[in-house]
Amino acid sequence: MCGIVGYIGNKKATPILIQGLTRLEYRGYDSAGIAVIEKDKIEVKKDKGRVSNLYNLDGIDDLKGTCGIAHTRWATHGKPSKENSHPHMDNDNLFAVVHNGIIENYNELRNELTEKGYHFLSQTDTEVIPNLINYYYKQDKENDTLKVLRAVRNACTELKGSFALEIICIKEPENMIVVRKDSPLVIGKGNGENYIASDIPAILSYTKDFYFLNDYEFAYLSKNNVKFYDTELNEIKKNTKSIEWDSKGAEKGGFEHFMLKEIYEQPRAIRETIGTRLNSSKVSFEELGFTKEYLETINKIYIVACGTAMHAGIVSKNIFEKLCKIPVEVDIASEFRYRDPLIDEKTLTIFISQSGETADTIAALKLAKEKKAKTIAISNVIGSSITREADYSIYTHAGPEIAVASTKAYTSQVTILTLIAIYCAEILEKADLAKIETLKKDLLSLPAKVDEILKDTSAIKKFAKRVYKEKDMFFLGRGVDYAVSLEGSLKLKEISYIHSEGYASGELKHGPIALIDTGVTVVATITDEALVEKSISNIQEVITRGAKVLVITNQNLENKGFETVINIPKISTEISPILSIIPLQLLAYYISKEKGLDVDKPRNLAKSVTVE
Ligand code: GLU
Repeated sequence: MCGIVGYIGNKKATPILIQGLTRLEYRGYDSAGIAVIEKDKIEVKKDKGRVSNLYNLDGIDDLKGTCGIAHTRWATHGKPSKENSHPHMDNDNLFAVVHNGIIENYNELRNELTEKGYHFLSQTDTEVIPNLINYYYKQDKENDTLKVLRAVRNACTELKGSFALEIICIKEPENMIVVRKDSPLVIGKGNGENYIASDIPAILSYTKDFYFLNDYEFAYLSKNNVKFYDTELNEIKKNTKSIEWDSKGAEKGGFEHFMLKEIYEQPRAIRETIGTRLNSSKVSFEELGFTKEYLETINKIYIVACGTAMHAGIVSKNIFEKLCKIPVEVDIASEFRYRDPLIDEKTLTIFISQSGETADTIAALKLAKEKKAKTIAISNVIGSSITREADYSIYTHAGPEIAVASTKAYTSQVTILTLIAIYCAEILEKADLAKIETLKKDLLSLPAKVDEILKDTSAIKKFAKRVYKEKDMFFLGRGVDYAVSLEGSLKLKEISYIHSEGYASGELKHGPIALIDTGVTVVATITDEALVEKSISNIQEVITRGAKVLVITNQNLENKGFETVINIPKISTEISPILSIIPLQLLAYYISKEKGLDVDKPRNLAKSVTVE
């Protein structure tokens, strides 16, 4: 889940590497380090702590090299420490390596290398890699131009697990090698210089032209050239793709935190995700091209994802079932992949990942393909791994999301899933046409309605001030309001470190109501007109037991005796979570801020979860 940056060109590498790492810090932030090729040796500067610590390291300002690699770590093996920070070198200091991912067989490899006389300075899984490369390099009696690349390739064939690697070698000071398997890495093409990063935004201010690597493809870079090789070391051709994101998207633009900026970007993100899909009489998804005959063969839809993206799936189950009359299962990717799910060619599977690099979701998608199901990937990142694996790829257009806690990606995901459900329903001709027309109109009204909620946030700020010292909270709702409560609760946990539970209101009295006592905070969402009375009764039950309650609603709940009510605009129930989540995101944000926490980079979390 770490961040990787690389530079090769004519400029001093160090400032570019550190600036790139700073932009990637949301991916992992327990340690940071760089390696730069200086005159006759590779210089490594690294330590535990934030990227900004790098500026304090002795000699960092003296580095003049124009070829370097960099890493911000999210530790998986070995605690954050200087020794465990990347880059790692081999015993002869010939190679420096940064690694994102996990080497699952590192113990065996470490033992084998130890028997061959190698020793290790860190507890990481990564350190076997430079030594394995060293081993193959020394074994190779040829002395041709591919010698270093061959050593890297040979080492990679022994690695099990996931990796994105950058490798520099003192024997080839004008080159850099990168390779990936199941971990993200992009190459930005410049003019007389080339860039590497785990994620596009880190280098977007330098270039908009990117190469994307598939698993086990090797890129061999010099400042003027990038050559690509397959595992047989046959050269392969690749073209760049142009990325239209604005580099401003990766900057705070006057907001105190990325999260707040991204919450306020939701009207635009939703508008751009809808794009031109609603311009013609029927919702259009040229990428899918489904026919009625095909959709009639589908007897089950699976939506598979992790975290917030999975919550977007739970919201959308309702609309798919209602409009398409096909049963929908929503599953957690890490569960789905290991439980031999019942799927076949009659199953339509949808995989959602903001980054498109979520390891569990990619593995789940591969499994669905093996089982012959059709696979759709929904991602926010063009060219990301998940989109390259799936039969069909659909993009949300949320723009770069930097804060670890997802906001605009979530609302964009629910928006795109709603559009797909309507698209399928229109082809199947099973849904009520008037209902479909209302939904389309409501989708178009979303940006303005989100804006309306964002205009006045004072009541949420006030409530946050009141409850920020709490230890526990409950988020309650029924139907789609339950689905949104799960996401509201997750947001709070992620950035405020307050324990919370998202619960179906009707289920509370089957156990957890035992926890409701004087002063416990309950956040209730009530937007489903058909369930209002039932929901009100549930809230009364917790008030009776002493809870302080915040109600988010689009119903008229005046005179119901609720102390704090936040009114949001009315909209079709199926898509009301796109509105009701906004106050919940803001509540989590203001509580975290009130507690003085690092809102954008919560402890233990990283943005794109590229490990299992
Ligand atoms: N597994 C490696 C480590 O713990 C890399 C972790 C990462 O991706 O940051 O050092």
